[in-house]
Amino acid sequence: MSVHSVVLIPGDGIGPEVAEAVRKVLTAADAPVSFVLRYAGEAALERGSEDVLPQETVDAIREHHVALKGPCSTPVGRGFSSVNVALRRKLNLYAAVRPFRSLAGVPTRYENVDLIVVRENTEGLYSGIENLITDGVVVSMKVATRAACRRIAHWAFRYATHKKREKISVFHKANIMKLSDGMLLDEARQVHEVDYPNIAYGEVIVDAGHMRLVQDPTQFDIILCENLYGDLVSDLCAGLVGGLGVSPGANIGDQDAVFEAVHGSAPDIAGQGVANPLALLMSATMMLNHLAETRHDPRASTAAARIKAAYDRALNDGQKTRDLGGQLSTTAFADAVIERLSP
Ligand code: ATP
Repeated sequence: MSVHSVVLIPGDGIGPEVAEAVRKVLTAADAPVSFVLRYAGEAALERGSEDVLPQETVDAIREHHVALKGPCSTPVGRGFSSVNVALRRKLNLYAAVRPFRSLAGVPTRYENVDLIVVRENTEGLYSGIENLITDGVVVSMKVATRAACRRIAHWAFRYATHKKREKISVFHKANIMKLSDGMLLDEARQVHEVDYPNIAYGEVIVDAGHMRLVQDPTQFDIILCENLYGDLVSDLCAGLVGGLGVSPGANIGDQDAVFEAVHGSAPDIAGQGVANPLALLMSATMMLNHLAETRHDPRASTAAARIKAAYDRALNDGQKTRDLGGQLSTTAFADAVIERLSP
């Protein structure tokens, strides 16, 4: 069997540093992938593209169906709109899935966190529709469609079944946003009652949900939410397991899947060689497991398991980057993982 072509988008800020570290680990682990390099974000503009999301990058993902992506920077309050949001919309990557698990070598307040956030990735306030009504008055539109609510609810329950998870809790604010968040609740309730009665189901007001997560994260299993709440709760969950340096993710559609860490381009540490590549490496192991499942290639899951065992060993041996209280550079951490790969 030949290797799988996967699009690699290094991204901006710390993106190229962590992407290179991950590429090295995957190569050392004999992961059955070959990378097709494409650019997005400021990196694309620097290479002469007029668009932060060049068509050839989108086309490459459509052709190969799987991408590993570093963060692309989004200026706050000005300039071009988010590359990440545009990519998710263009490719219809409607489900963001983000697992947050305690790591043995990374002590935090809780030892047994095992949460998955499933976030609707195409609508909500991320529609980016903002109108200046008159000087000093702006309206931002929160878009919700029944079709997208139903689609993400089905996806979440299917995923829960596949991963043998027990409960889905929808985080919402339907007491205030009765129509939009109310519609997600209607659809999730119906999917639960009709198709997946065996998976437990709960509804939690999003602010209280955040409080309860901080008090005791073991009360939750899969958290399903609309776009903005998913963004916010993801960073909270990241904080429960050691931070953005250890929080991976995937954006999944019916045709394509783009794997990327939860973190952004971290301009405050970019270019210093100190970023933690683990979040992108964990995203890469999710990618390998996805390839193993969708292409029936056990070599990919073997590589993923070897990489996971190696980074667990590295962390247990105290080999850590600065964000986790260690001293290692990005490349030194990647080397520490490579040294611990089982033969
Ligand atoms: P965005 O708006 O692009 O999501 P953000 O505002 O959430 O970005 P990040 O770029 O994710 O910000 O960074 C938040 C903080 O976490 C910064 O202090 C950054 O240095 C730190 N951070 C993020 N990713 C990493 C990483 N991989 N390794 C170490 N520190 C990181």
